[in-house]
Amino acid sequence: MYTKKVYNISILKKTGMKRMKKPIYFDHAATTYVKPEVLAKMLPYFTTNFGNPSGIYQVGRENRQAIEDAREQVAGILGCSNREIYFTGSGTEADNWAIRGTAFAMQKKGNHIITTAFEHHAVLHTCQQLEKEGFEVTYIKPDAEGIISAQDIEKAITDKTILITVMFANNEIGTIQPIAEIGKIARAHNILFHTDAVQAVGTIPINVVEMNIDMLSLSAHKFYGPKGAGAIYIRKGVKPQVFIQGGAQESSKRAGTENVPGIVGLAEALRLANIDIEERRLKIAEMRDYLIAQVMQKIPYTKVNGHLTKRLPGNVNFSFNFIEGESLLLMLDLNGIAASSGSACTSGSLDPSHVLLSIGLPHEVAHGSLRVTLGEENTYEEIDYLVEKLVMIVDRLRQMSPLYHE
Ligand code: PLP
Repeated sequence: MYTKKVYNISILKKTGMKRMKKPIYFDHAATTYVKPEVLAKMLPYFTTNFGNPSGIYQVGRENRQAIEDAREQVAGILGCSNREIYFTGSGTEADNWAIRGTAFAMQKKGNHIITTAFEHHAVLHTCQQLEKEGFEVTYIKPDAEGIISAQDIEKAITDKTILITVMFANNEIGTIQPIAEIGKIARAHNILFHTDAVQAVGTIPINVVEMNIDMLSLSAHKFYGPKGAGAIYIRKGVKPQVFIQGGAQESSKRAGTENVPGIVGLAEALRLANIDIEERRLKIAEMRDYLIAQVMQKIPYTKVNGHLTKRLPGNVNFSFNFIEGESLLLMLDLNGIAASSGSACTSGSLDPSHVLLSIGLPHEVAHGSLRVTLGEENTYEEIDYLVEKLVMIVDRLRQMSPLYHE
């Protein structure tokens, strides 16, 4: 059982959590569990150390110090100074702040933003909203392997461009973008550069200075930290508008009483993620390549979406021709496997994933996709079980498909 594997009983007792029967978990890009060591660091801030960090009494001062220590931890890992890190309530909030904040702060200079067609909705919907508010947005398409060309970004620059925002790694197909190259171009043109690094932080070492990044979003629940805790790096001198008005928290730029347990948990999870980051990356990538090899060998009419090596170590995205992804997911779930599909189900109608369409997949192929995202606790036995079930389920679904028989 999943919880049994990662939590010892005493932690479960301490937190009052029940051991539940959990599926084999292959959806780490959606979220991860909170590591026991991270939870242990967070717990006192819910109970004994609950004081408001703005309080001048001892426990308030201690909590302020805990926030500042966390800030230093995050800054050290990203290669920036403490004052350039602001804590937020999520990766989505960090994206909104970077994009909307920059758009309105810079609107006297211009109204043009460059982004990509396969961003997470936290970026895409924010840009679409800005279009309704008078901004112009260029959506650069990735190539068939899910990589954005830095030259395409450069070609799209006009004298009205105020912001370039390109994700570090795609959340559906895991492809890693040429961020350092885009950063260089943005800096040469004196245009601000934001990257949504929510899928990359904790998996790939990132130095914001070396990569010429002006703003970067991250989120703790993607690297074994708590949900509802994010952060943004904003380079000194870059001044997006204040996003949440109110008190003086986060240098008066992001008001609201700080989520001390969340912030402490974020920093501890990031610290742990960066220990042996390279060994872990190689270990997970090896498991990923084993999964790809097994599936490609055993299931015909299958495609791996996204570049095979320029991708996150734990990400695999398959398209199985002649089947429908949602049915596949439901049947995997019945077999105790948690994974996700590339398509989003909206109010009864199935919309194919905008990411898969952006790399040129036809609608019907995009519908038959499956995202498997591995984490450090997955095992080869679990992958063998997944492959065994996939072979069986894909075959069964294809037998029911008139298209397959044609
Ligand atoms: N950006 C990317 C690339 C993501 O994958 C996600 C979450 O899936 C987000 C932003 C949103 O992060 P959060 O869940 O912290 O709001």
